[in-house]
Amino acid sequence: MTKIPVGILGATGMVGQQYIALLAGHPWFEVRYVAASPRSAGKSYCDAVAGRWQPARAWGAGVGDLIVKDANDPSAAVGNCAFVFSALDMAKDKIRALEDSYAGAGIPLISNASAHRWTPDVPVLIAEVNPQHIDIIPAQQKARGWSKGFIVVKPNCSIQSYTTPVYALIAAGYEVRRMIVSTMQAVSGAGYPGVPSLDMIDNIVPYIGGEEEKSEDEPRKILGMLADGVIQNATLPKISAHCNRVPVVDGHTACVSLEFGEKKPSITEVKRVWSAFSALPQELDLPMAPKRPIIVRDEDNRPQPRKDRDADKAMAVSVGRVRGCKVFDLRFVGLSHNTVRGAAGGGIENAELLKVKGYIS
Ligand code: NAP
Repeated sequence: MTKIPVGILGATGMVGQQYIALLAGHPWFEVRYVAASPRSAGKSYCDAVAGRWQPARAWGAGVGDLIVKDANDPSAAVGNCAFVFSALDMAKDKIRALEDSYAGAGIPLISNASAHRWTPDVPVLIAEVNPQHIDIIPAQQKARGWSKGFIVVKPNCSIQSYTTPVYALIAAGYEVRRMIVSTMQAVSGAGYPGVPSLDMIDNIVPYIGGEEEKSEDEPRKILGMLADGVIQNATLPKISAHCNRVPVVDGHTACVSLEFGEKKPSITEVKRVWSAFSALPQELDLPMAPKRPIIVRDEDNRPQPRKDRDADKAMAVSVGRVRGCKVFDLRFVGLSHNTVRGAAGGGIENAELLKVKGYIS
């Protein structure tokens, strides 16, 4: 099968590198175009990431020799790739304008940046939770006069650890009214080189700019309904989040307390719902999809970042410490890999879904 040529914007960064590593040997997609800042433009990819390549895996054949282009010039991508993943870190308004110009140039774009997450006709996609939201794409294209290009984004990396488990309970018929979430987020979430080591070693930083708002608000769009070409944000659950940076390399952990509506599941029922949860990516057997999107750990001391972040290609959410709550109804701990499930792996799974649904060819 001829593979679909793919471009990576921000290919030299933490998330961009993860895309390159995960796409090595991908059955459908092949990296043919890499772009980053003017600092990296003109270098071979190999030289551009020398001394800062982070993934344990190597890049695919030929990628090291690709010449890095300036991501600020969408015209350079035209004809070289069928679609792009965007992993840029720049000012939000600049990213928004740049992503628009890629879509306007006829290049579908799947973004990890937050710039477009609150654009009403841009779906924020977790393929296991709201795959139906991609059906807003024709309306998005019509409204902007784009014939082939479109924009789909991924949510913030911190919310992956609890949004899918909460959605699984909602899908099983349990209303979730309120939640309190405390996240412990890995340093790789801050990009490369990230938080200075003297701030991070032997320490916890109880602030990550903009993160609490994203953790509280983005699930409402993801859990919203698509009707008449518009995504209506869900009103529940109401979420209160504390976001902390902790000295862990990869893997965001969330301690969650949930309040249900009138109907309250038992602990056994919650574990049964999570263990049985399966969605469209599993039904379609997408290459990046985990076999089990939610893995329930019964040990007292799991999940842990070092032991559980790589579960099922680092795409599964591991949950544990499922127990009652004296204030709300249920407590649990969720964990997911921030640069894979929460960034590049989730982006690739979204692209696979878009291909199967005929939006990417
Ligand atoms: P990063 O390591 O700092 O990488 C940023 C990338 O953007 C690099 O390739 C950089 O190129 C490029 N860039 C910076 N300024 C640019 C400019 N003026 N013009 C063109 N390209 C420019 O950041 P990251 O952690 O990979 O994050 C990338 C995006 O994903 C961000 O929007 C972030 O919020 C989001 N995200 C990150 C995570 C995570 O866990 N890290 C998870 C979810 C979402 P150079 O190397 O040439 O400077």
